[in-house]
Amino acid sequence: MTDLPPHIAPTRYPAPRRDPADLARDLPRAKLRDWMPRRVLVTRSAAPWPLAQRVMDRAAAAGIEVVELSGDRITGLKGGTEAETYRRAKSTLAVVVAPPSQMRPQPIPPSADWRFDLATGCPAHCQYCYLAGSLSGPPVTRLFANLPQILNLLPDKVGQGHVTSDDPARRHEGTTFEASCYTDPLALEPISGALSQTISHFGAWDAAVQLRFTTKYADVAPLLDLDHRGRTRVRFSVNVPAITRRFEGGTAPLNARLAAMGQMAQAGYPVGLTVAPIMPVEGWRDAYDRLFADAARALAPGADLTVELITHRFTPGSRDVLMGWYPATTLEMDPAVRSQKRTKFGSVKFVYPKDLMAEMRAALDASLARHLPRARFLYWT
Ligand code: SF4
Repeated sequence: MTDLPPHIAPTRYPAPRRDPADLARDLPRAKLRDWMPRRVLVTRSAAPWPLAQRVMDRAAAAGIEVVELSGDRITGLKGGTEAETYRRAKSTLAVVVAPPSQMRPQPIPPSADWRFDLATGCPAHCQYCYLAGSLSGPPVTRLFANLPQILNLLPDKVGQGHVTSDDPARRHEGTTFEASCYTDPLALEPISGALSQTISHFGAWDAAVQLRFTTKYADVAPLLDLDHRGRTRVRFSVNVPAITRRFEGGTAPLNARLAAMGQMAQAGYPVGLTVAPIMPVEGWRDAYDRLFADAARALAPGADLTVELITHRFTPGSRDVLMGWYPATTLEMDPAVRSQKRTKFGSVKFVYPKDLMAEMRAALDASLARHLPRARFLYWT
């Protein structure tokens, strides 16, 4: 076996395990880790939109402080230290109007033809967060109140795009629209309702289109009875317990995510596993094998399942941001044990060395074939 990179701490996995669906049924609702902000800020332009009104109503009902700003600038996030600013930003929801530049759908390979955003920012505390370095300023979540305007721009893209629209093997999926590039939309659902609104919009949109989002949350109850018409694929972002427990603060427990996947599949949604970020932690072969076995148990036979496999990577910029947010992290982000890869824009990212990548891919492919032979594999990166 390839030597593990240094700094990867040994991990012990708990032995006897129960069916993930049973475990999740026993979880009190709070353990699904609904997120509610401590404070809601609403900009002047956002306030008249119905979505902003809904957020304010829900916040008021939950006893959450609501501040209606006199302008469109988000203020009051800066604390005395970086840690304080982080805490304030992560516990605040800002309701804003997306500017035209942020409303335009953008290509987003390999996940989907197009991306559009319901929000930017995420309330969870993943120590490897994909958003680090890609959003500037304090990590506040900005929810877009002008959702109808954003959705109105999507029809122009139907039939275009290079991931599913022009791939004969995937064209049956329709034009795909990814809604979780810069947020976790299910995390915001209890306060926003924006995800339900979007799923219903796609359900009513009689065209060859597909909404996609990925989540580390599990409270899917508001989505189960929506008229989705199979036009939304929800993928659950999962990983081995050594990673979910240690590095994914504020997210739903793994068992709850797997059980939520089973519930969504039973409600007729196509579902997916986004296994990310894959890391060669101690015992990784067995741990990922168990993860796929647990996922298989959470699904009824015949579920429409896709799988995306994404290895851990970082950039110099994301590493700096993450080390600022999580200075005590034990997450391995050592350029010396990684290979450098140039993106098409010329920037550098650090990935696992080629041999280790090949070894991990072979092992995960074999586990997938063993436990989820009918799943449709989409990509490895
Ligand atoms: S759930 Fe995703 S976006 Fe949110 S903190 Fe974790 S990695 Fe970042």
